[in-house]
Amino acid sequence: MSTRDLDRAFVWRPYTSSEDHATRDDPVIVGAEGSFLHAEDGTRFFDASGSWWTNNLGYGHPRLKAALHAQIDSFAHVAMSGCTHAPGAELAQRLVEIGPRDASRAMARVFYSDDGSTSVEVALKMALQYWRQNGREARTKFLALPGAYHGDTIGAMSVGGVDEFVDVFRPLLFDVNDAPQPRTPKDWERAIGVMIERLEREPDSIAGVIVEPIVQGAAGMRMYAPRLLSALRDACDRVDTFLIADEVFTGIGRTGTMWACEHAAIAPDILCTAKGLSGGMMPFAATLATQRVYDGFAGDTTRALLHGHTFYGNPLGARLALEVLDVYRDEAILEGVVAKAARLKTWVHGLDVHRPRALGMVAAFDLGDEGYHGRRGWALAEKVRAKGVLLRPLGDTIYLVPPLNVSDEDLETVLDAISTSL
Ligand SMILES: *Cc1c(COP(=O)(O)O)cnc(C)c1O
Repeated sequence: MSTRDLDRAFVWRPYTSSEDHATRDDPVIVGAEGSFLHAEDGTRFFDASGSWWTNNLGYGHPRLKAALHAQIDSFAHVAMSGCTHAPGAELAQRLVEIGPRDASRAMARVFYSDDGSTSVEVALKMALQYWRQNGREARTKFLALPGAYHGDTIGAMSVGGVDEFVDVFRPLLFDVNDAPQPRTPKDWERAIGVMIERLEREPDSIAGVIVEPIVQGAAGMRMYAPRLLSALRDACDRVDTFLIADEVFTGIGRTGTMWACEHAAIAPDILCTAKGLSGGMMPFAATLATQRVYDGFAGDTTRALLHGHTFYGNPLGARLALEVLDVYRDEAILEGVVAKAARLKTWVHGLDVHRPRALGMVAAFDLGDEGYHGRRGWALAEKVRAKGVLLRPLGDTIYLVPPLNVSDEDLETVLDAISTSL
């Protein structure tokens, strides 16, 4: 049987209807290099969604491959409970050093896990357990933004606000939020205003506020003003509760700064990072916390954070993440993003589309108002695919998240393919 036949016969694909799976002619990938995927039939595609937003440095970066090989030859995995290892310890130090900081706080501790969703579960459990063992037992609720996406596990879905993804699971989810869905900048003001009001109305019940800073990814690359994030930070400070920044998508330079929080010059109490953290090569994640949060767990085993996944601190992922950060430094990746980000912004604002928007190496626009189940995005994707570009639309939303080090030439080819297909 061919790979495609095996796939159609035995695989249950993520976020894919059985109809689409049975009929869609998805390419069979046999290689990947830089921004491109190589298909079995010899065609080459620019991967505009970067393998679900992970491909920050291009496929097959030689330094990342070498780092991974070296770590495999040394040891691939040992549990980080009852022992420790250099990749895990050194990466923790690096993440603390580069973590966002403001006048009142900085990151101080790193807790590892496997993917974005687990890093969010860890953050929620940290916040909840903190208050329960530090005299605020009634703080058991979280606030989240409408349209938020924090992952697909039960806790992460509970704080999620993309109704299409979570409605069917509602009976299992804890109750979170009912602020209005924002679309225009004015709506954002209202949505975040509602959140702040609720925080001030029931401060005794709120364990934390969780947000995707500045850019909501899966909601359709929706963006809001940095000052609204600052306002939320201030509100959390006024009632003394935690702000959790889910930087799983926005972190590691995707929005042009290492962390999207930097656009608002704020630091969260807890931060989640995954996706680009391990260069798009390994499932790997981390949850960072301030000293204050960590201090809330000081004491004996009855006060320890009761959480830990089997592959916690996996040395392959940790070694890769260290190399990713070294490549950012040695190849001046963020400095290189400035001009490319400006180009993306000019390009998207020159298109005849709905709601053009761009920040750092994220550009997006809408072709209609039908949201995630809209088909206009897929119709455009089909046209663009004939020109060698693979898009993965979010319904009516088209977005582009190229590698941060994409060449100018490759970038122009993609922009042209999209412009001429509209
Ligand atoms: C992708 C994503 C997640 C979930 O990450 P997984 O690795 O898919 O579990 C969580 N939060 C945000 C903001 C994301 O974009």
